[in-house]
Order: sequence, then C-alpha cells, then structure tokens
Amino acid sequence: MFLGIDWGGTYIKAGVTDNRGKLLFKKVFFSPRFKEESVFINKVEELIHFAGPKHIAAVGIGAPGIIDTKEGFIYYLPNIPGWQNYPLKKVLGKKLNIPVAVDNDANVFALAEARMGSAKGAKRAIFLTLGTGLGGAVIINGNILEGRTSASELGHVPISLKGSRCSCGGTGCIETFIGNKYLVSRYKRIKKKKNLNIEVKDIFNNALKGEKEALTVWEDFSYALGMFLSGMINVFNPEKIIFGGGVSGAFRVFKPLVWKVIEKQVMWPHIKNLKLEKARLKNAGIIGAAILAKEQLAGS
Ligand SMILES: [Zn+2]
Repeated sequence: MFLGIDWGGTYIKAGVTDNRGKLLFKKVFFSPRFKEESVFINKVEELIHFAGPKHIAAVGIGAPGIIDTKEGFIYYLPNIPGWQNYPLKKVLGKKLNIPVAVDNDANVFALAEARMGSAKGAKRAIFLTLGTGLGGAVIINGNILEGRTSASELGHVPISLKGSRCSCGGTGCIETFIGNKYLVSRYKRIKKKKNLNIEVKDIFNNALKGEKEALTVWEDFSYALGMFLSGMINVFNPEKIIFGGGVSGAFRVFKPLVWKVIEKQVMWPHIKNLKLEKARLKNAGIIGAAILAKEQLAGS
C-alpha cells in the first residue's frame, strides 16, 4: 500500500491506496498556516502508524509550491510561509525510514488523471487547476513533463505586455486574468461596488441567470483562457485538456466560449482530435501522490 498526501494551504488530505491506486481510507486535517515542521512530520508518522507501518511501501506528497522533484527539496510554498529551502524527502525519509517522493500538487493531480481519470490513455495532455491561483501540468508520452524543478508553471505564462503584478513577482501572467481573486475584483469594479461580499461561484450563478456584468466577467475570462490555451495547443498539440479545481464547476458556461476562441486562434490541424474535459477523480491529489510514490519506488 502507498500513503498519498495532498498538502494544501488550508487542508492536508491524506489517504492510503492499494497497489492499483484504489483509495482505501482517507483523513483530512487543517494545514498549519506557517512552517510547523514537527506538526507536519508527526501527522505523517501518525498516519503511517494508523495504516500499519509494515504495510506502507512508500509515501508520496503533492506540495503547493516549487519543488526539486529529484531531491524532494522544497524551494518555497507561496501560500504557506516558512518552508524555504527545505529537504523534505531527506528529513521524512530518515525519520520514517521509508522511501518518500515529493512533487508539485498540480503535477500530482495530473498524474492521477492521466493514469486513472479523464486523460487515461492520452499520450499528450494539459491539466489546469482553476482556483485562487492557476496550477498546471503537462503530460508528454504519458509522463509528467519535469524540469530541474517541478516544471509546467502554466499559471505564470505571461499573456499581456501591460498586465498587472502577479503573485509570482512577474507581470501579465494568465493567472492575473483568470485566477479567482482577479475575477472577483473585476466583477466588483464593473458593478462599482467595492465592498461587495461575493465569491466566484456567485458570479458564475449570476452569469447563468443572465446578469450583464457577470456575463462580461465570464466572457473576458473565457477569452483570456482561450487565447492562453491556443498557445499551449500550438506548442504541445495535446489530445486532451483537463480542468480541475473550484472554478471547473463553471465548465459548462466557459467551455463553448473558450472553444470558439480556440477555433479562431489555433493552427487548425491541432484541434482535429482535441477534447476539453472536466477532471473525473474525486481524490486526485491523494491518489496522484500515492501513484507518484509507487512509480518512484519502482524506478529507483
Ligand atoms: Zn505569475
């Protein structure tokens, strides 16, 4: 069995899978807001103890940040301060005496969807997790595209020469056009209601009801997403583009709009066999982390 850990800014979701990636049980607990090394490590130890240490072959972790995947080294986690330059694989491996694998959370999500979900069997696929930020991953020849660090920071591909400042420190990234907080602030600006208490799902519901301002936000979102994806399609020629994360609930609203932009923009042979789909797995973060552990163990 394998222990998979989906490490998020708010929750840590962990579970044990069998050899085929079937989730046997899962546990969810609050993620420490800052670096609390001992809390995190004790939790992992507890989970292994709960599953029965003899039964766990390896541990996989999907972490929300920039990772050296070979070394299992965290460069930093943008939403959880304190974890800079931290050798997680080394520390955990020593403490637990068990193989540990670490990758970026979007890569881990993509791995699960590629092996068991919407992109099963696809040789080339692009994955986007739409949420506060924009996570991304690319599957090439059935494997995650890796750089020296966890590659495919698709959210930080610039699409504008005059864009606003992004969480990564750059400007004009696609994340600043389609990330949750940018959608909310754009909606408030159009409504001229600075203090409006609203979430993306409300804007989406308003758009479905035909509200003009909400529709404008979704049309702009779809245009930006369509233009960005057109670039990705021309580069990677994927068979599938898979959408996960919170905003993917609005998939049926944005899919036809995005498709129209893609049809106009992309070099046409590239869309002949292309499909846009929603992610299928319920616990892709946990399952993907367990698959990562299994595949790294097999390859080591
Ligand atoms: Zn950025």
